[in-house]
Amino acid sequence: MAIERVTILGSTGSIGVQTLDIIRRHPERFHITSLVAHSRWRELAEQAREFGAESVVIGDESHYSELKAALSDTSIEVMAGSEAITHVARSYRSDTIVNALVGYSGLHPTAAAIESGKRIALANKETLVVGGDLIMGAARRKGIELLPIDSEHSAIMQCLEGERRQSIRNLIITCSGGALRDIPREELADVTPEMALKHPQWSMGAKITIDSATLVNKGFEVIEARWLFDIEPERIKVVIHPQSIVHSMVEFTDGSVKAQLGNADMHTPISYALLYPERAKEAMEHLSILDYPTLTFSAPDREKYPALDVAYECLERGGTAACTMNGANEVAVAAFLQHRCRYTDIVGAIRYALDNASFVTRPTLADYDLSNREARDLAQRYLNR
Ligand code: NDP
Ligand code: MG
Repeated sequence: MAIERVTILGSTGSIGVQTLDIIRRHPERFHITSLVAHSRWRELAEQAREFGAESVVIGDESHYSELKAALSDTSIEVMAGSEAITHVARSYRSDTIVNALVGYSGLHPTAAAIESGKRIALANKETLVVGGDLIMGAARRKGIELLPIDSEHSAIMQCLEGERRQSIRNLIITCSGGALRDIPREELADVTPEMALKHPQWSMGAKITIDSATLVNKGFEVIEARWLFDIEPERIKVVIHPQSIVHSMVEFTDGSVKAQLGNADMHTPISYALLYPERAKEAMEHLSILDYPTLTFSAPDREKYPALDVAYECLERGGTAACTMNGANEVAVAAFLQHRCRYTDIVGAIRYALDNASFVTRPTLADYDLSNREARDLAQRYLNR
């Protein structure tokens, strides 16, 4: 088998590091072309040495000289800035792009990777939240394989193997309920970042952990599923499943329901995306089903978690609405993590941005840039009120 040349965008993050764990197990199969990070230049330099990367990019240009100096005894090319990230995503040197960047920063690199015909393993769900219609349209036209890393979407993809589109009745996305699932609604205004960062099942980057506590993440996953699987929003359901063992399900027209189960370990969906259509010969850890005699499912409390309905509303509105939701959320989550606003201000800022933003029905990438900037400004205005 020919060696596959892989670029990892966001290699220093939670998904990026776990992706490198999988690559490390398959030296005969993968070669790292480029590694991209934003601020953690030391980790990036170490990774580049270990995996023999041809080039590295540091998003934050202020770390360029430190990174350059750290790799001065190697032939590894060092670049900096967001243009350089998009450049390596487009580069002819790699076959596959793993996009594990966080937030809006993932959109342009995904678009560039599609344009240049790369296979894409996508963790950066914000790409599809913001521009799912545009991105999936481009991927279809180019015949690109776009494989989800998000565990719910990986589960759905696995359930759909060998099935026909017309047999699908509903997609059922499971949700752990996040860190605040046992906190009553009346106490949410006093939740601190420390409380919201304690996810019961998954260890992930800070932004997605807060998104999981607000259920913005689940709303985003509904939007992601809508575009990835080209299915109407009303046929995408969300159920709370605190054990995080069933990663999602598909209900078929004949009444059958298929589910994918496994430990709450992102190595599994990452390796599924990287090795597809093969499967890894060995798991990090196998599921011991007898450890889970009780698996429970319940409907989400839509008043406690208004973000879920806001996501469906954005799908209904279409155009730049979900881009506005995403931009406002990024600003509010960053403020919350720095103790600059309350937990409940996150959805407040999203609501304010959606109520005041301009709207483009059929946006281009440039329209998304404008809409993202406007949403960020509106959220900031709301937080400064
Ligand atoms: P992390 O915060 O752990 O990592 C993010 C990565 O992106 C880091 O390498 C970081 O660099 C880099 N980065 C951050 N900001 C920028 C920027 N502005 N420009 C360029 N690079 C940037 O996030 P996660 O790994 O948790 O999540 C990555 C994506 O995967 C997100 O979209 C998330 O929703 C999705 N996802 C994550 C899951 C998980 O288990 N973690 C599960 C499912 C989906 P540096 O650290 O050097 O600053
Ligand atoms: Mg998920």
